[in-house]
Order: sequence, then C-alpha cells, then structure tokens
Amino acid sequence: MAYIQFLGAAGTVTGSKHLINASLDGGRTGAVQVLVDCGLFQGQKEWRERNWRELPFPAREIDAVILTHAHLDHCGWIPRLVKEGFGGPIFATAPTIDLCGIILPDSGHLQEEDAAFYNKIKKSKHDPALPLYTLEEAEACLRFFRVAPVGQTIQVSPGLSFRFLNAAHILGSCMAEVTLQSEGQSRRLLFTGDIGRVRNQETAPGKVVHSAPAEGELADLLVMESTYGNRLHPHTDPRPELAAVVRRTVERGGSIVVPAFAVERTQKFVFMVKELMESAQIPPVPVFCDSPMAIKAVEIYLKYEAEYAEDARALIRKYGSPLEWPGFTFASTADESKKINEVHYPSIIISSSGMATGGRILHHLAQRLSDPKNTVLFIGFQAPGTRGAIIKSGAREVKIFGDMVPIRTQIAVLEQFSDHADPPELLEWLRTFPKTPSVTYLVHGEPAAAWQLRETMTKELGWNVQVADWMERINVP
Ligand SMILES: [Zn+2]
Repeated sequence: MAYIQFLGAAGTVTGSKHLINASLDGGRTGAVQVLVDCGLFQGQKEWRERNWRELPFPAREIDAVILTHAHLDHCGWIPRLVKEGFGGPIFATAPTIDLCGIILPDSGHLQEEDAAFYNKIKKSKHDPALPLYTLEEAEACLRFFRVAPVGQTIQVSPGLSFRFLNAAHILGSCMAEVTLQSEGQSRRLLFTGDIGRVRNQETAPGKVVHSAPAEGELADLLVMESTYGNRLHPHTDPRPELAAVVRRTVERGGSIVVPAFAVERTQKFVFMVKELMESAQIPPVPVFCDSPMAIKAVEIYLKYEAEYAEDARALIRKYGSPLEWPGFTFASTADESKKINEVHYPSIIISSSGMATGGRILHHLAQRLSDPKNTVLFIGFQAPGTRGAIIKSGAREVKIFGDMVPIRTQIAVLEQFSDHADPPELLEWLRTFPKTPSVTYLVHGEPAAAWQLRETMTKELGWNVQVADWMERINVP
C-alpha cells in the first residue's frame, strides 16, 4: 500500500532523500509521491557521483518535498530536482526557507566555480565539466517553497498529511511526522532529519538554538539519523579548551584558522569567542569572519531571536548585532577576503565550507597550512574523503586548487560543538516514546555508526531496528 525508498543518506551521512510512495484509496486515485529532504551527496567521489544519477522515476511525478532543515546535505539537490522537472510545493519552516535563500544560490555558485576551474585546468574527465546546477537555477527553485509552521498539520494530498516538530538541530530545523490515511486506516511515519542535543544547556553551552527535540512522539515507523551512532560527545565545557588553543597560538605569533559551516556553527563559534574575549579569557585579537553567507545568516538569526538559547540572547542584548562588534570583521567582498591574507599578526579566521570542500576557507588554508605557528581548529564533523578529514587525520599534505600543500600547522579539534545528539541522548529521547515503533530504520550515518547504534538500541530498548541500504525499498507496516 505504501513504501519508503532510501535514495540517499543510507550508508553515508550525505544526500538525504527519502521517498514515500503511497497508493491511496487502494490505488484508485493513483499514488502520491513525496520526498522527505532532497540533499546533496558530499565527500568521496563515489558518493558525489550519485548527484549525477537520475532518480528511479521522473522528477515531475513527485507531488511535494518536505524539507527538515537547511543544511546542504538535506536541501542541496532541490535545484537539480526542479531542473529535472519537479514543480510541486517544497514545505519548510520560515527560518529554513530564509536560510535556503542564501544556501542554495551559494551552492549553485560553487558548482559553477568548480566546473569553471576544472575546465581551466582541464583535469576533468568530462569535457566540458558542467555544474550540477547554476546560481540562477538555484534562485529559480526558491519560488516553490511554502511555509509550514511548526505543529501545524498540512494536507499534501487527500490521504497524506504531515506536521513539523522541533528537532533542535539548527535554526528552523524540524522532524517530519507524516500521516498516511487509507480506507479508514492510519499510519504515522516519523522522519527525524538531524536531531539536536537533547539537553542543550548542559551538553552544548553557547548553542544558538534553544529547544530540545519534541518529546513523547508516536510513530508506527521511525526513520532516524545515526551520525554519531558510535561516538560519545565530550560533555565538558568547550570554552576552557578553546581559550587554551587561542592563547597558545597567539603566544607563538600564529593565527587560528577555523573551517566552519556558515550557518549555525559560525554564529555559535563567534558568540563563544566574543564571550571569552569580554571575560578576558583570550586576548582581544582581530576576528575575521570570511563568509558572505555567514553575514546573511547572522541577519536571519537576528530575525528569529525567539529561537535562541538564553545565553546567546543575553549576549546580543548586551553587545548588539555581531555584525557591529568592534574587532570583528565580517568579510563580504572578494577584496576584503584577500586582505585577510595580508594580515601577519595573530588573528582568528573563520570561514566556510565547514569540511573545506570549497569556498574561501581554501584560500586561508593554502596560505597558512605550511606555517607551524598557526593552528587549524576543527569544530565540526568532517565526512570521510573531504579535505577537512584529510587535514584532521594528521596527513602531511593536502591538495588545494590542484596543488599539494604541506601541512605544518598545529591541528586542534573540539568535538563539543556538535549539533547532533549522541547515543545516550538519543536513548533518552527515544525513551519518551509512549509506544515502540514497529520498526526503526537508521539512516544518515557511516555504516559503523549505524550498525553500532542498531546494536545499542536493540540491547537497551529491545526495539526492532534496521540499517537502511541505499535504494532499498521498504513496505510501511
Ligand atoms: Zn543538518
């Protein structure tokens, strides 16, 4: 009667794309097809190549997209879907839509830049190399977005409705609770998207988004993320460690280069740096936030202040908009970005992309990786195969702009910044379910993480847990 097909984020953490196909009225009125998330594959070539594959059905046959949040691995394939003929509504919360308005065009721009670069150096086996979609195509898809407020039931088609529930992952992020109704029977499917920290105040000080994921959920079938299925987050306060990294680097005359996602992570990090500076725990060195997208994201964050954690709100109340803090430079133009390269005194440089797969961070890394005085500080997940993962692993060199760059900087890692719940937090959240789902499928995790989480959930909760395979089709019980 209804099935789910995992078109992405199965066996990997990127490319989230889950198809719901429901034959309603016993098939009399045909099937309704909805995609929950429509993300880009990132990381290793093996995965990225899947961005170029056709869907197993025509894009125009999809009735709607339900988008959990604005991260590229959840929304970054939408322009391609539209390019291939999709013309239905894309439901998302208002902050998610605002964030997509900056993230998707930026992604189109990066796709174009990459294609142009490979054409210039003629290193692509595709001649000419083409962008997956252009900036213009990304902008054109924004008109399909429709606001779905948290908690409000939206009827997508006669037998399929959904509502968003808080996921506490990033600004605007939600889980999608989908209800299928056919011939008097009702089935509830819960897609978690990415799940934020369950006890924010204790586990993630400084986090921008305040609320914990919605509790007491009922689901017949659960599709859950497993990014951190085999790892525990340190539950220590990251601030003393961050202060020590900054002080040590500044003392030896170096700069701290921080690859960070422009949305959420950059804001959270900048807030924390401000707090440490104001309390004199780190010296007042210049802070460069080199990302036009981060600037626009700050503006969106200021618009949705109600979603802030209390400490983040207090910081804004006291010091105003981060865009106007003295000593903090938000670089918008390419010229402003290049000027940061000329800075030879200690500074903190935050730039994206967060996994160093593209963007302005590459210039800063190319410029500063070979100087042992500097520190590269990782505050986010680095998917296997990305430049970020290579640098973090202690490699001696890394390829940037087609050249090998020696890595001589110090490498520092702070794991506390994660916006994903770890297994004890997930179990705590799952224990609030009043009824056990008949089956749980784990997605959005490397195989080791997903299988470990399956074992933990089976042992601790006694639930029926499966690990989703890429392209696997499962019947809704
Ligand atoms: Zn996410």
